[in-house]
Amino acid sequence: MKYAIIIPDGAADEPLQELNGKTPFEAANIPNMDRIAMEGRQGTARTVPDGFESGSDVATMCLLGYDPKVYHTGRAPLEAAAQNIPLSRTDWVFRCNLVTVIDGVMKDHSAGGISDAEAQTLLKELSRKLDLPGFEFYTGVSYRNLLVYRGDEEFDVTTKPPHEIPDEPTAKYLPRGKGSEILRRIMDESRELFARHEISQTRIQTGHNPATQVWLWGQGHAPNMPKFTEKFGVQRGAMITGVDLLRGLAVLLGWDVLNVDGMTSFHDTNYAGQGKATAAALDDCDLVFSHIEAPDEASHQADWKTKIAAIEHIDKFIVGPVLEKLRKFPEWRIMVLPDHPTNIATRKHGYAPTSFCMAGTRVKSVVKAPYSEKNSAASDLKVERGHELMEYFLRGGNL
Ligand SMILES: [Zn+2]
Repeated sequence: MKYAIIIPDGAADEPLQELNGKTPFEAANIPNMDRIAMEGRQGTARTVPDGFESGSDVATMCLLGYDPKVYHTGRAPLEAAAQNIPLSRTDWVFRCNLVTVIDGVMKDHSAGGISDAEAQTLLKELSRKLDLPGFEFYTGVSYRNLLVYRGDEEFDVTTKPPHEIPDEPTAKYLPRGKGSEILRRIMDESRELFARHEISQTRIQTGHNPATQVWLWGQGHAPNMPKFTEKFGVQRGAMITGVDLLRGLAVLLGWDVLNVDGMTSFHDTNYAGQGKATAAALDDCDLVFSHIEAPDEASHQADWKTKIAAIEHIDKFIVGPVLEKLRKFPEWRIMVLPDHPTNIATRKHGYAPTSFCMAGTRVKSVVKAPYSEKNSAASDLKVERGHELMEYFLRGGNL
């Protein structure tokens, strides 16, 4: 049996005035997803359990079959796994953004998409200035960096993702709770160092947002997740994604992480290359998980045209070739679903259950309707505990 799961990140949405009351899925030309929904079935799954913030870390973990209530320990530990940073059970990982705060207001959670080299220099000098035993910075891509703590300090802190407080005063959202003093001190000291730094001066002079400080959030211990093979009995899995977070999940699940030239998190990504790589990986792997970030990024920019184009590219260049490849195997199954909705109207992640469609061996067709939020919500197939969807899929819709 061969399995393919394709995730158009944040592609689900609400009806839009600009689209005469249609959602981007309904406005897009998606013959392959429609075929999957018509030959097989569609329904909804709640991938963000009550009490969790809607985000790809929670939602993807859930649809991979792991209950976030049991396994989710934070976003930063998943990114640490992607970088293969060794962690013991008691170590802490914090996401360490480089951000632009002007007059106490969060202006940019990405410090103008600061370069890797600039980020490395700033964090190296910050580490030297702080001289805090147990704390270690790990630079990632651009503004996305990590801070690891190995020591006896205990943390029970509340932090805030900086992308959720655009144009808001930062004072309200500083780390709070047990152990937060040291985190605030690191943020304060970074502010003093970065303000005078020539990198900041140069960025301002050339019209770029400077990194005015670090922002710590998303903390947690390493999650203790059983390997996918142990949990579901599927032997060899592979992940194809342009996003660190999902690479981290794949590492924790014991899957291969495959790369594709030109794969990015935006609409400039190499859709055709990803489609080819996903189809080719089915030769050696039992399950291939292919994730595309572009529709989510377009939604955060309220760019519905690009969102529709991204959905159509995914259908044509990824779902189509993968479906064609699967039909060459005696037994196969495919599922397409966004991890969570990202709503153009609010530019934020939504909480509505996500729509899925699946087809293949032993998946019986129930209602013949094209794939859409409305049609999947009308189906009586509602998976309230989203982590149960994986089992349902692997068994061909027979629970
Ligand atoms: Zn998003």
